[in-house]
Amino acid sequence: MRLSPVLRAGALVATLALAVTACGGKSQQVNSSSSLVDRAKADNKLTVGIKFDQPGLGLKTANGYTGFDVDVAKYIAKKLGVDENNITFKQAPSAQREDLIAQGDVDLVIATYTINDKRKQKVSFAGPYFVAGQDLLVKADNTSITGPDSLNGKKLCSVTGSTSAQTLQTKYANQVSLQNYGGYSECITGLLNGAIDAISTDDIILQGYAAANQGKLKVVGKPFTTEPYGIGFKKGDTKTQQALDEYIQAMEQDGSWKAALQKNFGSDYKVPSEPPITEK
Ligand code: GLU
Repeated sequence: MRLSPVLRAGALVATLALAVTACGGKSQQVNSSSSLVDRAKADNKLTVGIKFDQPGLGLKTANGYTGFDVDVAKYIAKKLGVDENNITFKQAPSAQREDLIAQGDVDLVIATYTINDKRKQKVSFAGPYFVAGQDLLVKADNTSITGPDSLNGKKLCSVTGSTSAQTLQTKYANQVSLQNYGGYSECITGLLNGAIDAISTDDIILQGYAAANQGKLKVVGKPFTTEPYGIGFKKGDTKTQQALDEYIQAMEQDGSWKAALQKNFGSDYKVPSEPPITEK
């Protein structure tokens, strides 16, 4: 478009005025449009979506929050310049994670959250910081379920909005009767009282429940999917993605990653020999 000199001058003044307004705006306005990395540093605050009912990973207790995902959140927060006490943990059930991020209810989701293309349409991921595999949890005395090939006629429990439920629905729908709940802990009661035969989700989640139910439950130990766990955040925030990938690598390299796994799953927990390579 060609503008007369007068109009061009007017346009320039208008542009300058806008720029001045933007610079002079409240810091909050600037913060809300910037990357999470800048916002967290400026505000010394972070809201993280975790699971509240997964022992070893994300668990709400009378004394606060525990688990590997909680420890990852604390490590990341520190790197972002946020004090541990200034992290607000919010419950992020499997089916609500993308919406919680998209609506700005949480800054990050660190909640056994598998990176996949469908979710990448709505959110961005850093990581992976762990690689799990879908497995089965049964009663300790169960001998009939030995892996995904022995599920014929069995009653299975999983969670709405999880990749675990999705896999069972697409691959095993005509063999199993599937019950989906809002959280895996809801499946545990059914498994213990015999209403269901097995719970299916990631092996590390099932290991946490097996440990918490001392001797009553066992993980079958035949993982049949690959579940790379990522940290989810607002789609397109590439600055945050770069920073978090760096922090995850630092956590793996300085020994904190292994220490966090062993703290939450016991010193004899078999830590995968190689930490996952962070996707670029
Ligand atoms: N990692 C899987 C997922 O993101 C299953 C575990 C979960 O529901 O959090 O769906």
